[in-house]
Amino acid sequence: MNRGETGLAGVMGWPVAHSKSPRLHGFWLQQLNVDGAYLSLPVSPEKLLDKVAGLPALGFRGVNLTIPHKEAVMPLCENLDETARRIGAVNTIVVEEDGALQGINTDAFGFIENLRQNSSWTAAAGAAVLLGAGGAARAVAVALSDAGVRDLRIVNRTSERVQTLIGSTAIKNASFVSWDERHQALDGAALVVNATSLGMQGNPSLDLNLDALPTTAVVNDIVYAPLQTPLLAAATARSNPVVDGLGMLLYQAVPSFEAWFGVRPDVTKELREFVLA
Ligand code: NAP
Repeated sequence: MNRGETGLAGVMGWPVAHSKSPRLHGFWLQQLNVDGAYLSLPVSPEKLLDKVAGLPALGFRGVNLTIPHKEAVMPLCENLDETARRIGAVNTIVVEEDGALQGINTDAFGFIENLRQNSSWTAAAGAAVLLGAGGAARAVAVALSDAGVRDLRIVNRTSERVQTLIGSTAIKNASFVSWDERHQALDGAALVVNATSLGMQGNPSLDLNLDALPTTAVVNDIVYAPLQTPLLAAATARSNPVVDGLGMLLYQAVPSFEAWFGVRPDVTKELREFVLA
């Protein structure tokens, strides 16, 4: 296989112009003086198979996958790591030396690393409330379960999605809470995570009454556009520690960059500012 001197990687999505990944990986390539390039790769669903299959021949080290390819790419990978299998999505392909495609998922790592680096949260602190059961919530649920959370309360509008999530990720100690009971579910919790799309630019706000939540509980919104969501503003107003969603995006990129380019990059204040600018 021809893997040229210059390491090639990129992000496949449809559309992909909005992705912050080229800026993020581009920052590290320059900062760490790596001979590499990270490209924005618009790939329509019909072309996914051909484009992914062509990666080894083109000398790519790998790619990130974003909407709508994270699930569809799974059968195209020769090897899938256990986390990707449980989450049911691949966000990173690594082209191995022999040209085989390895599918991994770094979103669970990104979520938990962001939480740990930006708060004093520990799994032993108590119950965690997760709002949402979509793609991102699956990664959060796996991360919290693997971190040792004993009481994971998953709140979602559609109950079937939570049952599927719990069954297919094989997470333990999780229970379903109906959408109507979300306010009371906060009682005694040590962590609240919003993994719904509510609060995101162009979407309605998340309607969540924080009265039952201890003021020591960490509130994490994985929505990062806007950075300060109405949920984080309400939590800050009552002195709860808060963690925003941009860090998850930055940390999920660390293992991918390392796998492709052989150097482990750091998430720094400068990187955050560069990606936001
Ligand atoms: P998704 O698969 O479409 O899931 C959306 C979730 O939001 C579902 O649980 C859905 O509930 C819920 N929801 C949507 N509208 C609702 C409403 N009106 N009332 C109640 N619940 C509602 O989306 P996703 O990919 O998981 O992404 C979710 C959010 O996470 C997005 O804002 C995305 O930007 C963000 N995200 C952030 C990162 C990061 O790195 N920080 C990474 C990935 C995603 P139902 O199941 O009932 O439909």
